[in-house]
Amino acid sequence: MRTCIGCRARVARGELIRLVVAGDEIVPDVASRLPGRGAYLHPSLACLEQALRRKAFLRALRLPAALPAGRVAEYLAAAPGRADGPR
Ligand SMILES: [Zn+2]
Repeated sequence: MRTCIGCRARVARGELIRLVVAGDEIVPDVASRLPGRGAYLHPSLACLEQALRRKAFLRALRLPAALPAGRVAEYLAAAPGRADGPR
């Protein structure tokens, strides 16, 4: 079970996408293969907006300051409602 950093719901890992820091931005780890601390989020722009509003990324990824999450928004916009991996 993992907690969505947007809506805080606890759901199965496969329901969520993993997000990691790459360079100086937050990116979706679609294949769940990138190293480092991950945060989990529903594949939903609404959950992303909630996470950004509450600065949940700072806590979940232990960031000293907010990083841009534009690539996450792009991914969610291109794949609405789709979680990674087989169900
Ligand atoms: Zn959520």
